[in-house]
Formats: sequence, C-alpha cells, structure tokens
Amino acid sequence: MIIAIDGPSGAGKSTVAKAVAKKLGFSCLDTGAMYRAVAWQAVQDGIGLDDNEALGALALAKDIAFGHTAGDPIPKRVFIGGIEVTDAIRTAAIDKAVSPVSAAPAVREALVAQQQRIGEAGDYVVEGRDIGTVVFPDAALKVFLTATDEERAHRRVRQNVDRSIGSFDYDEVLADLLRRDEHDSARATSPLCAAADAVVFDSTGRYIEEVIDEICAMARERMQK
Ligand code: C5P
Repeated sequence: MIIAIDGPSGAGKSTVAKAVAKKLGFSCLDTGAMYRAVAWQAVQDGIGLDDNEALGALALAKDIAFGHTAGDPIPKRVFIGGIEVTDAIRTAAIDKAVSPVSAAPAVREALVAQQQRIGEAGDYVVEGRDIGTVVFPDAALKVFLTATDEERAHRRVRQNVDRSIGSFDYDEVLADLLRRDEHDSARATSPLCAAADAVVFDSTGRYIEEVIDEICAMARERMQK
C-alpha cells in the first residue's frame, strides 16, 4: 500500500511521512533527497543546470541509495554513486540548484521510474511534489500538506538550526522557499499541485502529532477496505 504525501517546501512533509511510516510499520521514501542527490552530483561534475540530456544521463548512471543509522527503522542516510551525501544535499547551494535540476524532464523520467520500482516492493509512505499525481496516481491515500509561508520558513529555520546545516536567516530561508515553490509549481513536467482526490491538510498552528494521528487513522481505515 502506498501513502502519498505531497506539498510545498517546509510544510512538514518529512516529519509527517517518517512518523506515519513508523506508526504503521511502513517504509519511507524521501523523493526530494533523490533530486537533491542528482543536483549535488551535477554541481560536483560541473554539469549545466539546464542541460537536460547530461542531467538525465547522470540520473540514470549514478546509483542512489538510502541507509539506516543503527536502531532507526527509517532510512535517513543518502548515497549517490556510493558517496554519502546526507548533509551535503541540505546546503543552501543545493537548495538553489535542485529546482532547475528537478525541472529537467530526463531527470524526472529516470527518478520517477526508480521511485515506482522502490514503492512497488512493499508498503511505503512516499513524500514529494508529484507522488499522488504522477508517481503513484493509484495510491491508497493521498495527502497534500500545506502551511502558511511564514510558518514554513520558521519551521525550516528551526530544522536547519537543529541539524546545524543550511541558512539560519529567516528572510533568506523564506525567499528560498518562495523561489522553489514558484519554480516547482510553474515547471512544465509534473508541477507541484494537489491530486484531485488528495486530502488537503493545512498544518498552520496545529500540533504536528494531531496531523500525524489523523493521517494514520485514515490510512488504517483504507487498509481495512
Ligand atoms: O522535499 P525537498 O524540499 O527536499 O525537495 C527538494 C526539491 O526537489 C524540491 O524543491 C523540488 O524541486 C524537487 N522535488 C521534485 N519532485 C519531488 C520531490 C522533490 O521536483 N517528488
């Protein structure tokens, strides 16, 4: 069974996806990390961020893998071509590079196929931008998670501080979120949008645990059908 969680940057998708997966005993797939890994490799290799063909070839050639830390069932370590990039893909430079890379149709084609292969192997909570619309249009449950721009920027700053990575500056983080939303929503291939049959959650001012519990309850209901 697939639970799709889509939404704009900083809406709390990762926190919710990991917690829902843990509670339901599902695996979890962070598709944003895959686009970030390809963006990181493209920057390393000096590939033009508008070079669809070269970016697509890179996405096909480099193996992306996830790893666990001891005692944690949710994979949080990310590797591309055997190199660990868990922290390297969360820098401000990759925040900037990832939108043009993810807009390249050849990259999307390569990564969507990998995501479908991974998800088909079991019960997964899959988070991203186009999971309910393109990657798993038949997902048993589709959630579209939103929050106000201000709340999303505050959350992302807190997350960056906790991880000691990326920008701690509210205005810079807000500008980056808005720029990525604009880019992700306007692209021609698989733009960010809610599937027609998605349940829309606005997490603004809500305890995230409440949102997690509601999603788990809906998922359990659908599992019984
Ligand atoms: O989820 P996260 O913010 O880490 O995603 C980073 C970027 O990857 C997004 O801004 C978007 O450009 C891209 N992305 C995408 N489709 C997905 C997941 C992420 O285009 N399914």
